[in-house]
Amino acid sequence: MRSGKQTVVDGITFDSQTEAEYYEYLKTRDDVESIKLQPQYILMDEFKITCSRCDLGYVTSEKTGKIIKCKTCKGTGLRNRQAWTYTADFEVLCHDGRVQVIDVKGFANERFPLVRKMFEYQNGYELLVVKKTKTGWRYV
Ligand SMILES: [Zn+2]
Repeated sequence: MRSGKQTVVDGITFDSQTEAEYYEYLKTRDDVESIKLQPQYILMDEFKITCSRCDLGYVTSEKTGKIIKCKTCKGTGLRNRQAWTYTADFEVLCHDGRVQVIDVKGFANERFPLVRKMFEYQNGYELLVVKKTKTGWRYV
């Protein structure tokens, strides 16, 4: 999904040169306690929904007119929806206990604003997005 050249720093393979550069920058910050790479978050747990293609798992066969098990939900009347997960680029723990979750902007993803909003709703703090500029790293 991501574009960009893979770059190796400290034996770690990064998806892009920009991510690798940001990692190097994080290592120079003196307020950083630890850095977690590719941290994963659940934005929404998995859930079940009622199958709307049948009546409690059963349908009338168009061919035979008999009552048969619904193929979509396998006769259960329920369908599973997978959890919605998001993998950020970095999770930074600062000396003062603050946590910063950071996504390095270097790719286009039209769903990202939705991911960001859901992450912030779930966690109650900002999902930081950084961009490299001529003068250094900037939050966007
Ligand atoms: Zn069904």
